[in-house]
Amino acid sequence: MVTAKANILVVDDDEMVRLSCRRVLEEDGYSVKTAENGEVGLKCFKEIQPDLVLVDLKMPGKSGMDVLEEIEVMDPEVVKIVITGYATVSSAVEAMKRGAYDFIPKPFTPDEISLIVARGVEKRRLLLERKALKNSQEKIRRNMVSLVSHELRAPLGATVQYLEVLQAGMAGSISSDAKELIDRCVIRLRELLELIGRWISLATFDPARMAESFEAVSLIDVAKEVMALLTAMARERSVSLNLDAPKRLPSIQGSKVCLQEIFFNLIGNAIKYNKKGGWVKVTLYDEDQEVLAEIADNGVGIPEEHLPRIFDEFYRVDGRRNAPIRGSGLGLSIVKTMTGAHGGRIHVGSRVGEGTTFRVHFPKVLNPQRQN
Ligand code: ADP
Repeated sequence: MVTAKANILVVDDDEMVRLSCRRVLEEDGYSVKTAENGEVGLKCFKEIQPDLVLVDLKMPGKSGMDVLEEIEVMDPEVVKIVITGYATVSSAVEAMKRGAYDFIPKPFTPDEISLIVARGVEKRRLLLERKALKNSQEKIRRNMVSLVSHELRAPLGATVQYLEVLQAGMAGSISSDAKELIDRCVIRLRELLELIGRWISLATFDPARMAESFEAVSLIDVAKEVMALLTAMARERSVSLNLDAPKRLPSIQGSKVCLQEIFFNLIGNAIKYNKKGGWVKVTLYDEDQEVLAEIADNGVGIPEEHLPRIFDEFYRVDGRRNAPIRGSGLGLSIVKTMTGAHGGRIHVGSRVGEGTTFRVHFPKVLNPQRQN
């Protein structure tokens, strides 16, 4: 937090500027340190960790722009104000593009420096407040994850085990009516455990950590493996499953486990929200810079008004808990998050009663800036 006495560092080779800044800003109640060049300025910066820095752009030795850049790396929340002569206004604009908050042309009056610093200190206060809020939100999220995973998952898991003991008749014989009720309890509790597991994996998903396990992955292999896992489910529902892919498909950079999760959710949904005798077609295309995966079905379709929300957490088109097709409403939000972490994007098109097509574009070469 910015205390009543904010720390200001003035880096300028002009002694008059340093003296006048110190006088005005100390009168305003700030604690002020000055440095006569870039090297000394950066040394002071590390020592006093100021809230705001005034940097002259034109100094002999290390340039003001270099000083700004190094400060930006060390602490992006420090407010940087550029001091400049009229002749270098364009470089002040350049400095602002690189993170400086404002600039003050020389010569300046005491009122001008006083005002610009007061605004900068207020900006610093807001930046730190935002950071503190973000930290406390992150703490709440972490506590929530640990509460859900320990306090809810563990007793639920134990309850399922007790019920399984009853189910197996290991605690004495039970009537068939009681057994049926226990069977239903177990099914519901397993669904709840699966929902909790999915939510935890979404809430704790860390794209940076995932990127560490990136390797060259063949989407043909991923599609085949996932389709093999889902064959039984498709057969049970009389839905046919087909894969169409070119003989040679370039690999993409990704996490195999996460790509399997993406395909598992999309193909699983295409089977789940289908009808008896329906089909699911998975097609892979080699497209310029990308590999495109298309998962199409001729199932129930999604009403147009729901399409913008289906990627939201917990959103289900039929939101009822006891809806005929069970689900958590988390699958597509996991798909979207993981696709984004691969630098990809996903689109959906659907017609009620006719079917749905999801298209997922993955870049062949990962551009880190496109990860989100
Ligand atoms: P759920 O656990 O409910 O399946 P998802 O996040 O995977 O959650 O999907 C959100 C909603 O989008 C689903 O409840 C379903 O209504 C709809 N949906 C997803 N995929 C399809 C599909 N292939 N066909 C029809 N509806 C779908």
